[in-house]
Amino acid sequence: SYRKGGYHAVRIGDSFNGGRYVAQRKLGWGQFSTVWLAYDVQSSRYVALKIMKSAPQFAQAALHEIEVLSAIADGDPSNSKCVVRLVDHFKHTGPNGQHLCMVLEFLGDSLLRLVKYNHYKGLQLNKVREICKCILIGLDFLHRELGIIHTDLKLENILLISTIDPGKDPIKSSLVPILERPEGNPNGGVTMSIVEKKLKRRAKRAVARISEGRDSMVGVRESPKSERCLDGIDMKCKVVDFGNACWDSKQFAEEIQTRQYRAPEVILRSGYSFSVDMWSFACIAFELATGEMMFTPKSGQGFTEDEDHLALMMEVLGKMPRKIAIGGALSKDYFDRHGDLKRIRRLKYLSLDRLLINKYKFSETDAVEFAAFLSPLLDFAPEKRPTAQQCLQDPWINFRNLTLNKAKSESSIEKVGSVMKGGRSKAQAKSTD
Ligand code: ATP
Ligand code: MG
Ligand code: MG
Repeated sequence: SYRKGGYHAVRIGDSFNGGRYVAQRKLGWGQFSTVWLAYDVQSSRYVALKIMKSAPQFAQAALHEIEVLSAIADGDPSNSKCVVRLVDHFKHTGPNGQHLCMVLEFLGDSLLRLVKYNHYKGLQLNKVREICKCILIGLDFLHRELGIIHTDLKLENILLISTIDPGKDPIKSSLVPILERPEGNPNGGVTMSIVEKKLKRRAKRAVARISEGRDSMVGVRESPKSERCLDGIDMKCKVVDFGNACWDSKQFAEEIQTRQYRAPEVILRSGYSFSVDMWSFACIAFELATGEMMFTPKSGQGFTEDEDHLALMMEVLGKMPRKIAIGGALSKDYFDRHGDLKRIRRLKYLSLDRLLINKYKFSETDAVEFAAFLSPLLDFAPEKRPTAQQCLQDPWINFRNLTLNKAKSESSIEKVGSVMKGGRSKAQAKSTD
């Protein structure tokens, strides 16, 4: 992809936008872009530099993302709404063409990384609550004040706020920003100075430490017993990645959202609104609390991934009301006229609170309270789902109890109820012909 129309190759120490930003190391990448940690010489802060591929379709996508991010920045002058802040944007010409670049405030690890770091065990409910509150503040702002639907909420797209001084190096405060480039090597030529080589090695080691879980830019530390220690970490986060966002009044795609976080009305093509984000939000909350995705549909003999997905939903949430089941443009592909799935006939029902108790070892109280918070968000009728504003008033979100809230029993009782993960037996599927 590092060719004409593709990614821009970046070397540590390369400078951008007339020398204002100096590349430090790669933070991540996607289909359209690479994201770099860069030092902003003007503000003496670290920033995230998202460099898009150069072909016209990527430039088009970047312009859209910049438009959304600009609306967000204009609507949130105090930068307090739990949504990433666009600092700057510009064009950068390189050997592969002209690349649109976005400069974003630098944030920390993603929630996916946090859950991985926690060995997919599920976070304490108090931490889940704090994270949920931040996401809801972001969603309330996007939905109610801007009319924007994110459409791609998932753990990777929620980043923790770096607790480190933005002027200090985020991986290791001893890592000196590379500002001086050796004479005669203005554009990051082939030769590297000894200082740069040293810094690059140091950065590599720091990155290795982070990926091994020995160190982290959000301050995740390991306790002596090699148990992951998340105590004392400030669970504040922000919503990122507005590449797929749209206005409720100006939608672009029929098929939206990453599979596991996709709302039923999107699968059925019944039209969508802000409430698709609320569905994904509930999936995120479940995943944070249990360490496992809420729905992981798979195709099987005689049924598609979409059909398995609808079946999985009904197994925890109950049968979909007939009117909703048959109301979408694609309903006929999946449901008969009675509103029953055509090719998956036998469902293994297990309510959300029972699932939390049986499979994830929640206490009765925790399970009932958490399920009472999540269930309305997973209503098959999109208009019945609570809004982000309403969720912020929910008793579960506002519950404060540090001593009585013993989240889960530590005992490793045999896991039961493999409804969500186990996949479907052949007997459950009825072939079409
Ligand atoms: P693409 O659209 O190119 O497929 P994407 O839309 O998934 O990619 P982002 O989610 O915006 O791109 O960014 C990719 C990754 O870069 C993120 O998952 C994260 O690891 C990192 N990243 C993005 N923005 C920031 C930021 N502001 N601070 C720190 N890291 C960031
Ligand atoms: Mg992303
Ligand atoms: Mg994107």
